[in-house]
Amino acid sequence: MRIQFSYPDGRRRASTVGLASIEQSEIALDLPASIAEEAATHLLQFIADYLLASGRTISAGETMRYGWSTLRFDQSPSDPTLVISELADPFSTNIDHYVPGAARAITIIADQDAVVQRNAVVMAGHHPHRSETAVVCARVVPGVPVRVLVFDRFVTQELDDSGWFIGCGDATHNHNDASELFRVHLVRIAELDPRIVYYLALPEGTRVVFERRRVIVFAPGAQAGRVDEGTV
Ligand SMILES: [Zn+2]
Repeated sequence: MRIQFSYPDGRRRASTVGLASIEQSEIALDLPASIAEEAATHLLQFIADYLLASGRTISAGETMRYGWSTLRFDQSPSDPTLVISELADPFSTNIDHYVPGAARAITIIADQDAVVQRNAVVMAGHHPHRSETAVVCARVVPGVPVRVLVFDRFVTQELDDSGWFIGCGDATHNHNDASELFRVHLVRIAELDPRIVYYLALPEGTRVVFERRRVIVFAPGAQAGRVDEGTV
């Protein structure tokens, strides 16, 4: 399988060439100018790797997680090529609306990786999907802004558990009391503060403190945190 770039009707398109050998329709991704060819290649290779590892094929109408967002494979009656679309608003709980391309999904992953790099964290962790869960303390109510949020990422073996715990930042609140804890989907947590999603690929052992005007990142194993100077 290789990736080919073409310019049909003035668009820029990246396409797979060679999936027919595994009886899979070729897959195409239309790219706005803001998306580098490297990122498009990475996405199509991710899909090809999945096909080869699983032995499955993808049909029209199917969806696939890609980092935080979800991709869909569309097909027109006149062309067997599967064309990628993505969630129109990946930060919203509305999952009915898709738009062509994958620019939003690709940009979120790039922004998450930028947070990892500029905070001197050695390596990104798993980039969680919006439907994965986190555990939150009862004082953190989705949809209600709070003054301080403390995020800790733990090792998890459970499928669809992001490993993130989100506490209220009050040292007197007992976070070991199970009746004070809830499990929620990450997309609901993202509603608390639009900055949150960009920090969710930090690896296990990381602590992130969201204050009103600054974000403090404690790298895994670090005793001291550092204020994240970047903007995303
Ligand atoms: Zn709490």
